[in-house]
Parts: sequence; structure tokens; C-alpha cells
Amino acid sequence: MTKDNLEIIPLGGVGVFGMNMMAMRCGGETIISDAGMGFPEEDAPGVDIIIPDFSFIDQYRDEISAIVLTHGHEDHIGAVPFLLKEVNVPVYGTHLTLAFVENKLQEHGLSATTTLHAIESRDRVKLGNFEVEWMHVTHSLTSCTAVAVTTPAGVVIHSGDFKIDGTPVVGPATDLERLTEYGDRGVLALLADSTNAERPGRTQSERAVMPALEKVFEEAQGRIVLSCFTSSVHRIQIVLDLAREYGRRVALLGRSMLRNVETADSLRQLDIPDGIFVSPAEARQIDDDQLLLLVAGCQGDPMSAMTKLATDQHKNLSVGPGDTVVLSARQIPGNEPAISRLSSHCYKRGATVIDSSVARIHVSGHGSQEDLKILIEATRPKFLVPIHGEHRQLYRHRDWAATQGIVEPENIVVFENGDVLELGESSAELIATEFVGRTFIDSSYEHVEDMVVRDRKHLSYDGIVVAIVAINPKSGELESEPELVTRGFIHEEDAAEMLIQLKQLVEETVTTAAHEERIDYAVIKEKIRVALKRFIQKATGRRPMIIPVVVEV
Ligand SMILES: [Zn+2]
Ligand SMILES: [Zn+2]
Repeated sequence: MTKDNLEIIPLGGVGVFGMNMMAMRCGGETIISDAGMGFPEEDAPGVDIIIPDFSFIDQYRDEISAIVLTHGHEDHIGAVPFLLKEVNVPVYGTHLTLAFVENKLQEHGLSATTTLHAIESRDRVKLGNFEVEWMHVTHSLTSCTAVAVTTPAGVVIHSGDFKIDGTPVVGPATDLERLTEYGDRGVLALLADSTNAERPGRTQSERAVMPALEKVFEEAQGRIVLSCFTSSVHRIQIVLDLAREYGRRVALLGRSMLRNVETADSLRQLDIPDGIFVSPAEARQIDDDQLLLLVAGCQGDPMSAMTKLATDQHKNLSVGPGDTVVLSARQIPGNEPAISRLSSHCYKRGATVIDSSVARIHVSGHGSQEDLKILIEATRPKFLVPIHGEHRQLYRHRDWAATQGIVEPENIVVFENGDVLELGESSAELIATEFVGRTFIDSSYEHVEDMVVRDRKHLSYDGIVVAIVAINPKSGELESEPELVTRGFIHEEDAAEMLIQLKQLVEETVTTAAHEERIDYAVIKEKIRVALKRFIQKATGRRPMIIPVVVEV
């Protein structure tokens, strides 16, 4: 690598949904941009979230000087505590972003050892070979930024998650003025959000949900139970304003809803009407048509407040007849079945459910093609690099941009996780591919080895067969009849015949083995396992986990 060239290596978020994270290397120094979490695509029992695999950055450990955050969504900050346990470097982001990070640090016991640097929009920070400037962008959350990274090779702009919302509910519009100034001076590469690159036109303003939500308030006779992402500050402000207008008190339910509203309020991101909040206990005393429940859990998470309300598990309140339940959020891929179950519970309890399939109560936070065009025209990059999307979205982003006459088609570079993109003053080249994977994390924040997840899947699909034999360590003789225990494999009563055959097979395997084999328990166990595996597969077509146990007597 030439000394002044810049390497950009995505560790997540490019080619997969979620886990956004990127390393930028220049002149032997590295900064990390975002460190997010995602959800496992495949069936992974006992796994809560996935984060990028950090083993690749291990070799650059001493070069890493900072974590630079664009905004506070989980797919951008969810892996920060795990990364800090590997490399303890300062973290930079807006006040709100860092407030969300701080909540995580407390849960992980990292508050005292982490340095957080809060920045304002247009702040510039020198980090070795990099100079980073944050610029405000509009999104579904507030205090979101694009990041301009000035390096010896040139300026790279990372769009963050953005849309061009001319009328945001909270905070200013996207800082196109500053982005245009960068464009005037020359931008080497723009890394741009591909989430909605397939959608023509503009993404609507956060305000676009107002008419449909207002209709809900106008028509609801009973309680309104509204669930949205607890970080959707614009949405929460709209709901609080409507509650005031229609004379409804508001009870916040769910730990993350309480915490995030408190955080946003403390940073003056929310304008909370005086005296509007009531506790869940007080809410029981209020007439249904004067109450709104603002609830965490719009994705149907079984442990969330929303699911508890819908299944009568909440200690104070539950969804009931006459309630209007509003799910004001998009369905994150993979969560559809859980959300569908949540709706069913609400209907069965006599409530009506309004989601984005029947009313315009959700709008995306990500820019469509015309939003992207505005960003590209402001920054006028030499190279365009689609990020934040699955392969399909990245390629369609490229194909669309190539037809717009706003960037040379050959200068649009699609890469994926692990690719090393080297940028020079007028060149962009994929020079290597590193192996980058993902790490499974369970509900207690511990790593779960891939092997463990494979075993769990194996068990859940085909069950387990345990064969227990008692062998005399000297004579190698069976001391008693073999025993077989199965779980999740076959119903033992229905398969008595088969169990007898399996026992006979185990007995035969032991008695026909050589004496040395019988007294070497590792060998005899393997022989039993192989014999059972072959027999079961032939007889049933299934492959249960087989565990032979030899008891020394
Ligand atoms: Zn994102
Ligand atoms: Zn976001």
C-alpha cells in the first residue's frame, strides 16, 4: 500500500442487513466507523444478536485510534461494547448517540474505562492521518450525521443513514450546505446508504405519518396503545403532541421506552407537554378515551412490554376490548412471524390493530433514489460506493446511479464485507479480500461458539439418542444389557420395536469387537456411535445426535 493511500474495509453491513462497521486505514493508522449489531439470518437457537467478528482487526489492534459513530441506531452502535472489550479507544458521536452508547456501557460495566467525546454538527476532530467532520442528516432518529473523513488520499464522505427530510419534526434539515462545500473542494468517494436505492422518487418526511395518526386519535373510542421503535424521536414527539391535542394522558411502558424518552428529553430532543405522563398504576384510574399507552416492543419480542400487554402478562395493564393498537414501525426482516402473533393476540382480546399495511403510520428513515441523487449532486464524488444494504440493494444502487449521469459508471464500486478497497488520488481498486465472519451473542452478552449453535440446531431438528453400556474394564464384557434413552427422536412407546433393535445392535457391536477395542472406551464408543448412526439413517432417514456413554463397573 502506498503511504498516502486509503484502505476501506467493511466488516459488516455491506452485503448483509445490519452489523454496520467499517475500518479505514491510512499510513499505518486506523479508525473504525460504526460498530453495529444484527440478527442471525439463519435459524440460530439461543442466539440473540450477531456482531461482526473482530479477529480480522486483531492485526491492526495497535493502529486503531478511535471509533467514529454516525448515529445511535442499534445496527450502528450495538457492537460498540463488545469492540471496546477488544480495543479500548475513544468513541466519538453526537450527544444523543453517546447517551445511547452510555446505556450499553453501563450494562457491560464499561462506563468507567471508556472515553466518550461528544461532538456537535460541523465539529472537526484530528485523529492522526484522519480529520473527521460530522454533518447533520435527517433520519428516523434525531442527532444523526454523515461523516467527512479527510485523508492524504482525499476526502471520503460516509452518508450515515439518511433521507433528505425538508420538514423534520425535531432538529434541523440535512446539512446540504456543508456537503456542497465539500463537493466544491472535491470529494474522492461517497459511501452511500443503499437501503431504499431501489425506490424511485423521494422518501416522505417524518411528518407524513401525521394525518393517519391524527385519524386514529379522532376515531378511537377506547384506549390507544401505540408501539414504535423507542429511538424514533420524531414519531414519539408527534404522538405526544397528538395526545395533548386530544386530551389523552400518556403512560410509557417498557424499560427501553422509559429510558430513551428520558434520554431524549434530557438532551432537549423532545418537547414534552406538562403533566402529560402518568404511571402505569395511575393509568388504570383514567378513562379509556383519555389514555394513550406508548409501548416498547413493536417487533413482537416475547419479552417486550407490548407482548406482555397483549398476553395479559403485564402487572398493571393489558390489551382489551375497544382498544386501538397501533404498530407504527416497519417489520424488520425475520420478525414478521412474531409481529403477526402479536396482532393475533390483540385481536383475540377484542382490540383493533392498525399497522402500516392498512394506514400510513410509518415512513422509512432512508432516502430513495431522488434523495440519493441530491446527496450525490451535492458532494459530486469521483467514486460512488454503495453501502448499508444486501447485495441486491447495492447492485441496484449501482445500476440506477450509472444511468443518472451523476457519476461515471466505471467509478461505481460495489464491494462486500471483507473486501479491501484501496483509494488513491484518482484510483479505486479492490486489492484483497479478508475473511470476516460474524459472532453469535446470547442474552447474557456472552459469545456462543458456532459449534454450539450447530449442535443446538442438530438437536432441535433430529433429537438425541444416548446409548449407555456398562463394560468391565478388565474382561471387556458387558456387565448388563445396554440402555437407550432418546429425546426428540422417536416416540419411545410407538417405537418399542426399533428400540429393541437398537439395543441389540449396541450389544452386538460390543460383543463382536476385539478385546483391546472393548477396554479402550474411546474406541468402543466410536464403534457404537457409527453403528447406530448407520442403522438409524437407513431405517428412518434421520440423523439424531448420538452420544454413547460407557460406564466402568
Ligand atoms: Zn442503519
Ligand atoms: Zn439508522
